[in-house]
Amino acid sequence: MAHAEPLLPAGLVQPAVPLPLPAPRWLWANAPLAAVLGLERLGWPGGEHGAFAQALAGAAPWPGGLESPQASAYAGHQFGRFSARLGDGRVMTVAVLDAPAAGGRIELQLKGAGPTPFARGHDGRAVLRSALREALACEALHGLGVPTTRALALLASPLQVERDGVAEPVAVLARSAPDFTRFGHFEFLARSDAAGLEAPERIAALQALADRMIERHHPALAGRPERHAAWLHALARRHAELVARWQVLGFCHGVLNTDNCSVLGLTLDYGPFGFLERFRPEHVCNASDTEGRYRWSAQPAVMRWNLQRLLQACAPLLGATPPAREAAGAAIEASFDRALAQALRRGWAARLGLRAAADETPRQVAQRDDLVLRALALLQRSRADFTLSWCALADAMQAGERLERLPPAHPGAAPPPDPDGLLREALLAWQADWQALAAAQGGPDRALLERSNPRVVLRNALAQTAIDAATAGDVAPLQRLMTRLARPFERDRDDERDFGPAQAAAPEIGCSA
Ligand code: AMP
Ligand code: MG
Ligand code: MG
Repeated sequence: MAHAEPLLPAGLVQPAVPLPLPAPRWLWANAPLAAVLGLERLGWPGGEHGAFAQALAGAAPWPGGLESPQASAYAGHQFGRFSARLGDGRVMTVAVLDAPAAGGRIELQLKGAGPTPFARGHDGRAVLRSALREALACEALHGLGVPTTRALALLASPLQVERDGVAEPVAVLARSAPDFTRFGHFEFLARSDAAGLEAPERIAALQALADRMIERHHPALAGRPERHAAWLHALARRHAELVARWQVLGFCHGVLNTDNCSVLGLTLDYGPFGFLERFRPEHVCNASDTEGRYRWSAQPAVMRWNLQRLLQACAPLLGATPPAREAAGAAIEASFDRALAQALRRGWAARLGLRAAADETPRQVAQRDDLVLRALALLQRSRADFTLSWCALADAMQAGERLERLPPAHPGAAPPPDPDGLLREALLAWQADWQALAAAQGGPDRALLERSNPRVVLRNALAQTAIDAATAGDVAPLQRLMTRLARPFERDRDDERDFGPAQAAAPEIGCSA
């Protein structure tokens, strides 16, 4: 079941050795994912001292895994600035599976398993808080149908490391993806100072890595002369679709550096992410992002900027002369722009229960765009909860009732002053226009409304509750939250109490790691 092919072309990977985790204990294991990956045949999960627990703790090789775990070199633009040497400092790939039920090739990584050759003096660990947040976010986005790396398991330990002057317990996260290759791998090879290669070798290395991605993920393009441009067009479209999904669901990545951008268009490397609670387009979920570079409203433009950095790195693959390369790059950026506009239209229309049909008139499209912009303005003026407002609107729409006030972001929060009732009037007028547009299209699509408006999202306070309990040895809240996040579109009467903003009544939590 293991793949024989090396992980990445030579020069990008180095062997890494996990540092055993003292007194490990299981926190959580993802049984459905393990089944899809075919791990049950190997005895997954296998108990407190079984082969997988040992492997997660770095005390034994991964059953059926690589002969030696590997870490890879990459570069990247972090907050706009280029770093030539990053790499998997605390991540190692331990297995490459052949998992037909998961679509074929799957890489398994351990995060927080100790320092690798790319650790640059850091401890190679992940604190329990951040490992658990990544696991929750992976599975939350997966539940929402957003492309993401997956979380397979969490193992805790009493070992503590210091972060910002505070000692915190650590955990190891096992995660999977068809490929963990990042934009930063290409950026690493594109800079001779980083890879230590002269120009011809550098280009050959870039080509080898691009061809590796094409063979793995776009086999129909393999060997074709125009394959590199075609691959980058497909990649640009995937990224446009990914960021459009984030926007429509109110997800903020928080650290949208090029080294955190997957070549497959998966959400990757969750740190201080957040879902919008009170709707603020300029919301910044990462407390260290003092300039708001990665605020919610900026994510599409940031993704485009990141794509430009990848295109810059891959320029030698796009043409023999600078003008040819520029033209090819511009065409790929145009692919991104087209796919982004389309995906945003489709995504917002779905939240409104409207299909973005192929035969729409430009007038219908303009009306729908206008409805979306007005809805967002109303949410903002109402200081409303993003997720619950869409649900309330969808419910009112389906019941044929009018909604006079959007749900507040915090229970008991004072509604915005509206002495002349203008906000209420604007909301009702908006609903009337929505109703009219939907009626013109044969009524709202109820099934689409249901599967486009999640009842539950991963609020920071919910994650924190699970973290606090898990730290104290109680994994039940984590398990319950994971179970609920796996079916975010389902209605459940307990939601209000357990997974709504009541739990977030405390001030919104800012995160920096
Ligand atoms: P991240 O913020 O997790 O995307 O990490 C940015 C870079 O710092 C990557 O190269 C990581 O491998 C590295 N890094 C972050 N934390 C650690 C750590 N505790 N030990 C080693 N490397 C780390
Ligand atoms: Mg990262
Ligand atoms: Mg991080």
